[in-house]
This record gives sequence, structure tokens and C-alpha cells, in this order.
Amino acid sequence: TSELRILAYTDGLTQLYNHRHSYDLLNKIIEDAQKSSSQIVVLLADLDKFKIVNDVYGHPVGDMVLKECADAIRQNIRANDIAGRYGGEEFLIILPDCTFESGEKIAERIRKSIEDKEFDIKGLRITISMGLTMWNGQNSSELVSSADELLYKAKNNGRNRVEIDPSIISLFA
Ligand code: C2E
Ligand code: C2E
Repeated sequence: TSELRILAYTDGLTQLYNHRHSYDLLNKIIEDAQKSSSQIVVLLADLDKFKIVNDVYGHPVGDMVLKECADAIRQNIRANDIAGRYGGEEFLIILPDCTFESGEKIAERIRKSIEDKEFDIKGLRITISMGLTMWNGQNSSELVSSADELLYKAKNNGRNRVEIDPSIISLFA
């Protein structure tokens, strides 16, 4: 049934696609892009200092934060863009048929929506860091790896920011 399919493809807490299905969709989108030569923007995003939220407020609050951040991501992308829960507090966002300029705009929109988010608990705030990369003929795992390296860089450069590979800027901008 379609209910079973939803369970197999999505993450129960956030209702985003799960790790495995996000990857499957990325492979499919790359396959399509090879035929149509369209552009793909990939964002790997990770909530900043999420462990502290769990430690200070407890896991139920941590889950609430995850769920609300997932909602914020979903509300800031189009219906045919893809958002998956890639790991604990990590999200894979795939923007098919998307230019570099739009991708940057969307990433910034998501980052800001999380930064501005107020939760029901006084004083609780969270931010998100992102790596932005574009498909350049590589396979899906290479593509996600390069987004992951940029995400790492975003964390090292102070968090709450979108990091973009300089070579991508010269190739696509
Ligand atoms: P904008 O927000 O500056 O977006 C510029 C272009 O970026 C869009 O051109 C579209 O090609 C791309 N883009 C922006 N957001 C997304 C997204 O979430 N997913 C994808 N796949 N692409 C995105 P477009 O379609 O010609 O739209 C022109 C303008 O119309 C947008 O400028 C925005 O001001 C408005 N707009 C269009 N659709 C929406 C919408 O669903 N909600 C809102 N609030 N504004 C929209
Ligand atoms: P949708 O296309 O699935 O987009 C979902 C949400 O992603 C939008 O919610 C908005 O927060 C964000 N978004 C998508 N595209 C853009 C964009 O180009 N620029 C900006 N700034 N944000 C974008 P929102 O605005 O509440 O819109 C809900 C739905 O209403 C959209 O779902 C779409 O179906 C429709 N819509 C809204 N504005 C436009 C528009 O200007 N043109 C078209 N064709 N549809 C629109």
C-alpha cells in the first residue's frame, strides 16, 4: 500500500525522505541530468551545536527542534525539490534544474529561516551550517562528499553560514 511505501521512504520523526531514499533520488536525478544536461544544486546542512540542545533541554526537546527545522526546510523549497534527513541532525537538500544563483538564494533563505525561528521554549535558538555544491559529472557519493567538505568548512568558519566551493563559483557563476 502507499502507506507502507511512505514508511519505507521517509523518516518517522521529520517526515522527510530517509537517508537511503534521498540517495536513491539523487542517483535518479543525476541519471536524468545526464540526458538533459540540466544543473543540480546539492546542499548538505547540519544543525549547529545540536548536541548541546539535547544535553541542556533533553531529547524530547531535541526531537521537537529537529521536527520544526525539517518543517522550515520543507516550507522554503518547492514541491519538486527534495529534502531528506541524511543523519541525526543532518539534511540533504537536492534542487533539480536549479542554477547556482537560485541555489545560493534558496540556501540563504533556509539558513535565515532557521536563525529566525522561535521555539516554544524561552531562549532556545538554533542555527544551521551548509555546504553548497553543484553537479559536475561526478557520481552521487562524490557529490555528497564535496558538499560534506564544504559543510565542514562552514563549521570551521564560524557556523550559521553557507560555504561554497570557489571552483564552483568560477565554473557556474
Ligand atoms: P526569487 O525568490 O528571487 O527566485 C528567483 C528564481 O530562483 C526563481 O525564479 C526560481 O527559478 C529560483 N527559485 C527560487 N526559489 C526556489 C525554490 O525553492 N526551488 C527551486 N527549484 N527554484 C527556486 P522564478 O520561478 O521565475 O520566480 C521569480 C520570483 O517569483 C521569485 O524570485 C519570487 O520572488 C517569486 N516566487 C515564485 N514562486 C514563489 C513561491 O512559491 N513563493 C514565493 N514567496 N515567491 C515566489
Ligand atoms: P511551492 O512551489 O511548492 O513552494 C513552497 C515554498 O517554497 C513557498 O511557499 C516558498 O516559501 C518557497 N519558495 C518556492 N519558490 C520560491 C521562490 O521562487 N522564491 C521564494 N522567495 N520562495 C520560494 P509559499 O510562498 O507559501 O507558496 C506556497 C505555494 O504557492 C507554492 O508552493 C506554489 O505552489 C504557490 N506559489 C506561491 N507563489 C507563487 C508564484 O509566484 N508563482 C507560482 N507559479 N506559484 C506560486
